[in-house]
Amino acid sequence: MIESPLLKNLKGYIGGQWKATGDNTFDVYNPATGEVIASVPSMPAEDVKAAIEAGKSALRLTEPYAIETRRQWLEAIRDALKANKEEIGRILCLEHGKPLNEAQGEVDYAAGFFDYFSKTIGELNSHTLEEKPRDCTWTIHYRPIGVVGLITPWNFPIGMIAKKLSAAMAAGCPSVIKPASETPLTMIAMFAVIEENVDLPEGMINLVMGKASVIGKELCENPDVPMLSFTGSTEVGRKLILDTVEHVKKLALELGGNAPYIIFDDADLDKAADNLIANKFRGGGQTCVCANRIFVHENVMEAFGQKLAERVNKMTVGDGINGDVDIGPLINKAGFNKVKEHLEDALQKGASLVAGAKPEDLPSDKLFFPPTVVSGVKRDMACFREETFGPLVPMVSFKTEDEAIEMGNDTEFGLASYVFTADEDRAQRVAGGLRFGHVGWNTGTGPTPEAPFGGMKASGIGREGGIEGLFEFVEPQSVPRGF
Ligand code: ADP
Repeated sequence: MIESPLLKNLKGYIGGQWKATGDNTFDVYNPATGEVIASVPSMPAEDVKAAIEAGKSALRLTEPYAIETRRQWLEAIRDALKANKEEIGRILCLEHGKPLNEAQGEVDYAAGFFDYFSKTIGELNSHTLEEKPRDCTWTIHYRPIGVVGLITPWNFPIGMIAKKLSAAMAAGCPSVIKPASETPLTMIAMFAVIEENVDLPEGMINLVMGKASVIGKELCENPDVPMLSFTGSTEVGRKLILDTVEHVKKLALELGGNAPYIIFDDADLDKAADNLIANKFRGGGQTCVCANRIFVHENVMEAFGQKLAERVNKMTVGDGINGDVDIGPLINKAGFNKVKEHLEDALQKGASLVAGAKPEDLPSDKLFFPPTVVSGVKRDMACFREETFGPLVPMVSFKTEDEAIEMGNDTEFGLASYVFTADEDRAQRVAGGLRFGHVGWNTGTGPTPEAPFGGMKASGIGREGGIEGLFEFVEPQSVPRGF
């Protein structure tokens, strides 16, 4: 069992109190060891209703919280997260499995969103417009949309919530947060740190955990929640669209990806390989921006494959808490089996193993999947069509720029993509042609607080980060004044 001063209350948080009704619980596992590290409450719908009520009581409409007050909340949360980075990161590492330095780095990344919105919140000040023909003065206000439901996945247990919560708080929206059931402890720790260090109105932030069906139903059906911000699978995103249709709720959805990583024959191949290692194996390959299909120009396929294999063969896989491994375990058996099935499918359909594990050599009782590279991948293979969400690198050969763009776009998804070329004109053409919300040019880097991030096509609706992410949580209201 995990011991931590930040986990004294293994409960939800409603209206400023640690709380959970009933005796139902669910277990949280350390994926590196398979051990149960905590048992946390599975909260009923009445707790979700109470959290929404608490949120309602914290919403200020006629006398909104001053921008300066909201800025102070954001700064205080930023400072509290930074001061507790080591312990929050340790808890995150134990329930998620990612290497300790990556886990602690994620806490810094989360703090960065509170910092960014504390500096840009002035964008929400009201402003006026003069309208001459009718002699009106218009004031444009940015009202908080109301109590928001924030639902997050397990792959970034604090990063994902930080993007949403920082923008919601900047806008003055109280929130009801539901973390993934694989990783609720990081969220409990974050609430403990905020409770200790930040003077927030009661009900401004609320935490519920348990069955997605119970909590999701209440958040979708309760008319006092006008907006949901969700990160997760496209399948669940579609369900949320259907389940909220009656109330016409606002949805901000960050859904699945199937990122193309395109390497032209004029690219710096060492740079492309180094960036691919950093991009692909972050979180064990379990992020929505991880390269999923590597398109390599046929002239450099062999040279690039060698460079990649050299790097992959040096990587280490093990328990992330030891601090000196590159890749931790996958999150659970279902995740592990999916990567294994994609590898088997590719090899059966004619792909070749360039580095890593043969399926028969994979561990049967552990979740450690070695980084693995295959070449000769074709469109009919599962690793081309679906997001693998694990450390499998499938390489696809291409001949022309048009072919690379067409194959890159041959997916229902449109989240992150990458292009490596020394030719600026080509980079601009390819970026324009790729229907993806993020196109890294000679970099495999993912989102940052300063820039809007989100998906085209079935990868979602709306943006997180950037000023665009702030404006997701407000309703612009126009007040023309006649004289
Ligand atoms: P992942 O594949 O990353 O686990 P999911 O889409 O399954 O993504 O889950 C993302 C988040 O959405 C988790 O917190 C999960 O519990 C939650 N979730 C799953 N189903 C629903 C639902 N029907 N309503 C609301 N939230 C849900």
